[in-house]
Formats: sequence, C-alpha cells, structure tokens
Amino acid sequence: MADCLFCKIIDGKIPSKKVYEDDRVFVFEDINPQAPTHFLIIPKKHIVGLKEAEAADAEILGYMQLVAAKLGRERNIESGYRTVYNVGPGAGQSVFHIHLHLIGGRPLAWPPG
Ligand code: AMP
Ligand code: ZN
Repeated sequence: MADCLFCKIIDGKIPSKKVYEDDRVFVFEDINPQAPTHFLIIPKKHIVGLKEAEAADAEILGYMQLVAAKLGRERNIESGYRTVYNVGPGAGQSVFHIHLHLIGGRPLAWPPG
C-alpha cells in the first residue's frame, strides 16, 4: 500500500533496524522500545489489523507467532516475554498495518495498562 508506513519500511523506503526477514514477514526494532527487547513482526501482505483479518490470513497470523517464539529463543528472553496486538485506537493501535509486538527482557507486570 502506497501510503502505509510499515509497507514503506518493508520496501526499504523508510529506514529501520531489521532483525529478521523472509518471504512472508519482516521484523524490526520498535523505534520507541518499551523493554530491552521490543520487536515488531509484520506480514509483507498489508493487513490493517486483527479485526480486519480474514480466514485466508490464518496461516500468516499463526506464522507470526511462531516467528516471535523463534526470536524469543534466539534472544534468550524465554523466562518471560509477551506477544501483543493492539487492536483499534482504544487499545493504542497507531499504525494500521498489523504488527505483533514482541516485548521482553525485563519483568512484565499483569494486567497491562
Ligand atoms: P501500535 O501503537 O500498537 O500501533 O504500535 C506501533 C508501534 O510502531 C509503536 O510501538 C511505535 O513506537 C512503532 N513505530 C512507529 N514508527 C516506527 C518506525 N518508523 N520504526 C519503528 N517503529 C515505529
Ligand atoms: Zn502496509
């Protein structure tokens, strides 16, 4: 999508600190990290958000979680991390290309704010 910040990051038109990339996903460091590890896992397909996802997106949504688990292992944060979708503006979604937050490397309180 021409006017999407995260599509531009995937295309390299806007710089990012890339963590991982394959044919289906792109992973980069959050510009405003909330923990020592804070990555954003995004599909290369432009999906607006979780509530806009369709049955055809089930495979990529599952795959994004497995990429998070792989990175959690590799980054040695398996004592406790969180994968989070903020869904809609009321939950803090500010970029409308679906992104899975991977947050870890510090104690994480529950419930979240
Ligand atoms: P959300 O608020 O759930 O929509 O998450 C959007 C996230 O994108 C926030 O945590 C921002 O800090 C992050 N973000 C916004 N712009 C950039 C950027 N150019 N590079 C990396 N992360 C970004
Ligand atoms: Zn996009």
